Amino acid sequence: MSRFPSRWSPPRGHCRLPGALRWLLALAVAWSLTGAPDAAHAALRVVTTTPDLAAITQAVGAGRVEVTALAAATQDPHFVDARPNLALALAKAGLLVEVGADLEVGWLPTLLTGSRNGTIQRGARGWIDASTLVALLEIPAGKVDRAMGDIHPQGNPHFLLDPRRAERVAVGIGKRLAELDPAGHQAYLDAAKRFVADLRTARTGWESRLATLRGKPIVGYHRSLAYLADWLGLVVVEHLEPKPGIPPSPRHVADVVNVGKARQVGLLVQESWYPTTTSSVAATNMGARLVVIPGMTNFARGQSYHDFLATVVARLETER
Ligand SMILES: [Zn+2]
Repeated sequence: MSRFPSRWSPPRGHCRLPGALRWLLALAVAWSLTGAPDAAHAALRVVTTTPDLAAITQAVGAGRVEVTALAAATQDPHFVDARPNLALALAKAGLLVEVGADLEVGWLPTLLTGSRNGTIQRGARGWIDASTLVALLEIPAGKVDRAMGDIHPQGNPHFLLDPRRAERVAVGIGKRLAELDPAGHQAYLDAAKRFVADLRTARTGWESRLATLRGKPIVGYHRSLAYLADWLGLVVVEHLEPKPGIPPSPRHVADVVNVGKARQVGLLVQESWYPTTTSSVAATNMGARLVVIPGMTNFARGQSYHDFLATVVARLETER
């Protein structure tokens, strides 16, 4: 997996065909490998960029939709290889759901072009930008772009670590499914209502289990815990990455350790796709416990969004 924003291209010198033709050839090869598409049993094919969105869509889809996630649960969603087989999935989709806020800007535009599917292009009815359904945090006051080394130029895109925001997203997806597949209109709205009700019940229990963490200072690896902190009342005092997307430097880590000691930080929290070498040393040096959370729902293994969050809660839960 690339740790850099990737734009898929064939090896240099191998092929001098125009870009569009290369994509068509790549798609043709992929079609020949996978065979003709399955008979359309599902009323709607939905592709989501992340497995979190896939799990939410699956829950809201009332058994009427076929859902595919482009990124794996173990993959940093900022950096996904834009392989032609992902464009093939998009080519057959009737709805695309992306996180938005530039989370996928390094890889999704190439795939969308390669899909040659007008139904799911930006602005179409078959496209949902989930970031427009929630209140975003950390929207930069001035102009910031990725060239300045910050991969959150539109605000923090990691809002699915907050179940309250996931509820908003589920309702938004449910409404759009109801529009696109009128025969399932009521089924989608009912499923979204059930999803929200179940999650509300669950999160009341999670909030009380983690009540002792309220107001507690923590350190993160990537600037991805803002919404988790917002939900649970945690205070993120520092991050090992000096800026989102910039790997920790020894000097910055030393500064973070000093802050961690001064603020008596008890937890250093990171997603499983970041290395733990630096963070485990930093955690030890500041007297904190390193907590590795899964980061995203393991949709490929049938995990639900509820079970993913339950895992995150269990990892954070500690007697201190
Ligand atoms: Zn990020």
